Amino acid sequence: AELDTLDIIVLAAILLGTVAYFTKGKLWGVAKDPYASSLAAANGAKAGKTRNILEKMEESGKNCIIFYGSQTGTAEDYASRLAKEGKSRYGLETMVADLEDYDYDNLDAIPEDKVVMFVLATYGEGEPTDNAVDFYEFINGDSPQFTLDNEPALGNLNYVAFGLGNNTYEHYNIMVRNVDKALQKLGAHRIGEAGEGDDGAGTMEEDFLAWKDPMWKALAEKMGLEEREAVYEPVFGIVERDTLTAESPEVYLGEPNKTHLDGTPKGPFNAHNPYIAPIAESYELFNVKDRNCLHMEVDISASNLSYQTGDHLAVWPTNPGEEVDRFLNILGLTEKRKNVISVKALEPTAKVPFPTPTTFDAIVRYHMEICAPVSRQFLATLAPFAPDEASKAEMTKLGGDKDYFHDKINVHHLNIGRVLEIVGKGKKWSNVPFSAFIEGITKLQPRYYSISSSSLEQPKKISITAVVEEQRLPGRDDPFRGVSTNYLLALKQKQNGDPNPSPYGLTYEITGPRNKYDGIHVPVHVRHSNFKLPSDPLKPVIMIGPGTGVAPFRGFVRERRKMVENGQSVGKTILFFGCRKSTEDFLYAKEWEEAKQVMGDSFEIVTAFSRESGKKVYVQHRLKERSKEINELLEKKAYFYVCGDAANMAREVNNVLSQIISEERGVPEAKAEDIVKNMRASNQYQEDVW
Ligand code: FAD
Repeated sequence: AELDTLDIIVLAAILLGTVAYFTKGKLWGVAKDPYASSLAAANGAKAGKTRNILEKMEESGKNCIIFYGSQTGTAEDYASRLAKEGKSRYGLETMVADLEDYDYDNLDAIPEDKVVMFVLATYGEGEPTDNAVDFYEFINGDSPQFTLDNEPALGNLNYVAFGLGNNTYEHYNIMVRNVDKALQKLGAHRIGEAGEGDDGAGTMEEDFLAWKDPMWKALAEKMGLEEREAVYEPVFGIVERDTLTAESPEVYLGEPNKTHLDGTPKGPFNAHNPYIAPIAESYELFNVKDRNCLHMEVDISASNLSYQTGDHLAVWPTNPGEEVDRFLNILGLTEKRKNVISVKALEPTAKVPFPTPTTFDAIVRYHMEICAPVSRQFLATLAPFAPDEASKAEMTKLGGDKDYFHDKINVHHLNIGRVLEIVGKGKKWSNVPFSAFIEGITKLQPRYYSISSSSLEQPKKISITAVVEEQRLPGRDDPFRGVSTNYLLALKQKQNGDPNPSPYGLTYEITGPRNKYDGIHVPVHVRHSNFKLPSDPLKPVIMIGPGTGVAPFRGFVRERRKMVENGQSVGKTILFFGCRKSTEDFLYAKEWEEAKQVMGDSFEIVTAFSRESGKKVYVQHRLKERSKEINELLEKKAYFYVCGDAANMAREVNNVLSQIISEERGVPEAKAEDIVKNMRASNQYQEDVW
């Protein structure tokens, strides 16, 4: 196809979106995704962008809106899936909406023949996601102000609710619970149950699937909808751009946005815009059998980035070449991988999740989470496009049978490329519209790492401590390997002189799009956290950080050590560290010795090696052994920190602390638990867990 008017609009929109983004960023410090919203911006610019949801629904003829509060993309993904299913199965006119794009004071004016869905993730310590903060404050406020004088205020509103949470955190699914409560109080009518997905138990996807079917049934009944055979309709159109090649300067080969494409990336650098940081130094902290742990330092001196001890570094990974090849091959796209395409939203309310024109190769390598777990529902969506009847039947079965899916796919950690290879016995899946993959596969997400350096000591260099992800699985010859950490390992190998790094046989486009990461760089941004040392350096601190959980505490200890070197006094600084063996995976052993030299009695490290004696000793056991002293420190208002494994360690440490308080202070367990809760509420107890 030739360059058509729509293409020009797309190009103009990218430019417009970028300009809007930077002005907005400057004026309000609010960052919006310049490229993802480019098409929406184009539509908005034409229609006059509104924050009035009712107006938006009416002008676009919608009767079902799905709001999402999302931090890592899962809630957003579920919202899109509900929109798609509502349309294809029930003929609803659906649209997905970011909670921060609208006002809520006229929720009361939405008539009874429409429905509003809320897909809400709970983040961190029971907080709303960044994009849901305003909505949450509004709806949970004492008396939210609406436009009409309805009594009750939301008596006309029909809604549906699903929450995404993690039961290892204290405030499990608090967002959906509180929003549901608030809506009920205002007289709104919930359809179906308020669903709750649990990431902690690893059942998020199944919880979602189990919740949505009865919800659809209830909704169909309430609104008098007829279920029909779901027919797939693509959300995105793919246009081949024959006049362009991968060498054309306007083609995105993995550059995240326009300023990167132009070769002059500008801040603010954030979750929508990475800084391509030079790697100053990288080495392995240990390397035993197949376990590797990396220490990597990135230089932020040439950027306007800053950080504080305890913040997180987000790393933007690229997919390994082998998985990119596998995916393109099984779709029959190998020949076309470098062909230039534009992707357009066929629906005015949909957003293209990457900048175009681009190539299939760049989309798959830089923008799609192709190695991630596969959704069961997605397999059902692909069934009609299977290469033969047998694979169609198999996909339908996998999509419909939870246990079968679990045994065949989940336990082997198969990704989408591998599933298609196995199910189709190697036949190409060339009938699947590429749009289905853009819709069905999440956007490649940055990975977070607790910063292990101190900003007092080195404000312009950030270090991270990462263990390379590997899991041996039944029924698979090759272990599962993590996306980001193996990419980091390859970068480390390259920096240390290997011209063609291939950790465990995996290769990466390590010099980045148009070799922009050569010399050697990694895309990153900084996320500020509340995990912080007390502002008073004399306050004692107790830190529990086994394994890579020690990362932020290396930063904390280096910070206090630097203070001592500067002539300041610091309070007792005690670190509980655990690993397998003192000779194997004892992270930063030498640095703790040096800290001791400088800090004397104010620093102490307590170690627990789980594989050195017959008995498995963990940090929580060591903590218990020091009950008396821990309690005394807490009475002196010591800060208590836990970092690392959320599933087991953090919870056990919490319980042990309750026991210590109960025994040492002679108070009942329930009372001790309340004391610990209050410590959390007042930030005396802080967690950085994953
Ligand atoms: P991924 O590819 O993302 O895989 C991670 C896991 O997801 C796998 O082990 C597996 O359980 C599951 N999974 C992935 N694909 C599939 C599949 N196809 N089927 C089934 N299951 C699958 N890590 C550190 O080492 N050091 C730190 O300091 C650190 N700090 C963190 C701080 C925060 C706030 C958070 C949220 C996380 C932190 N992490 C840290 C963890 C880190 O962000 C990454 O999750 C980790 O490095 C693995 O990333 P990866 O891309 O290599 O693995």
